[in-house]
Amino acid sequence: MTEEHKSLAIVVPCYNEEEALEFSFARLNALRERLVTSKLISSSSKLYFVDDGSADQTWATLSQLADEHDYVCALKLSHNRGHQNALYAGLCATTEDAVVSIDADLQDDPDCIEQMMQHFLEGKDVVYGVREERKKDTAFKRLSAEGYYLMMRKMGVDLVFNHADYRLLSRQALDALLSYPEHNLFLRGLVRELGFASSTVSYKREERVAGESKYPLRKMLSFAWEGISAFSTAPLRAITVLGFFSSLVSISILCWVLLTRVFTDSALPGWASILLPLLFIGSVQLVSLGIIGEYLAKIFDEVKRRPRFHIEKSQNANKELKTR
Ligand code: UDP
Ligand code: MG
Repeated sequence: MTEEHKSLAIVVPCYNEEEALEFSFARLNALRERLVTSKLISSSSKLYFVDDGSADQTWATLSQLADEHDYVCALKLSHNRGHQNALYAGLCATTEDAVVSIDADLQDDPDCIEQMMQHFLEGKDVVYGVREERKKDTAFKRLSAEGYYLMMRKMGVDLVFNHADYRLLSRQALDALLSYPEHNLFLRGLVRELGFASSTVSYKREERVAGESKYPLRKMLSFAWEGISAFSTAPLRAITVLGFFSSLVSISILCWVLLTRVFTDSALPGWASILLPLLFIGSVQLVSLGIIGEYLAKIFDEVKRRPRFHIEKSQNANKELKTR
């Protein structure tokens, strides 16, 4: 039976998810059983959990699950490297024909995996999970996320609207993805770059099964910037445009000052006309330098070519992974 069916790996990054793991494991495990029984996937299909340097009981739980089930693979990163790196580590560890990545809180409906698998069997290499509705997210999260997708599109970055990191990749697409050497990971953008035959499945986004979001505003903003700076040079172009307009404004003010000096008696215009352009140009320059600095920092990060993660422990999975 194993031979003729395709094997599936489900990869779950976990950061301080001790509360959610019990539910998510039970649900994913039942789903795996169901798909194996219905012969949609082979019995060699596996669940991969990556502990992203958690400070709670996440690793203890994962280690126990891996002891109890030989199809549960557990990896422990040496410290917290962030969602994208943890997911990447999990993807590197898989050997199956198809791989689905999903968050540990199961906000993305795991039952869609069955549909994703069907699309894969029909020949799709990439199947995107798309949130058709996110009523369970806070208004702020929903608006900021949707605004972000629109802004990215305006800046020329091709993203699937309302798709995060819930997707299926075929072995072929995954190998292509793993060949991208960049350190600055924004997987949803990279997958879009790959091409290959793709399709989407939609679902309703639910609330976390347990625990709190591991993406506070600070991490969300930094991830948003990762995405922009990894895929778009529009902010650099914006600096040029801003510079151009501020020079136009400065030139007109200069003309006005000259004309006042030559043709009128009120040759001492107030300090405001000096101070305002001075402040304006000063702030434009600082913002511009900051943006250039951000891109420089990215180059700095890339040229160091440091490993993305170190695997401290692993169970039922290969520990020797490509880490860059
Ligand atoms: N996560 C991770 N490392 C981190 C932060 C988050 O591996 O540094 C995992 C987390 O355990 C979860 C997924 O990334 O499986 C998404 O995080 P979360 O659900 O907290 O984000 P949100 O859905 O609130 O954006
Ligand atoms: Mg979540």
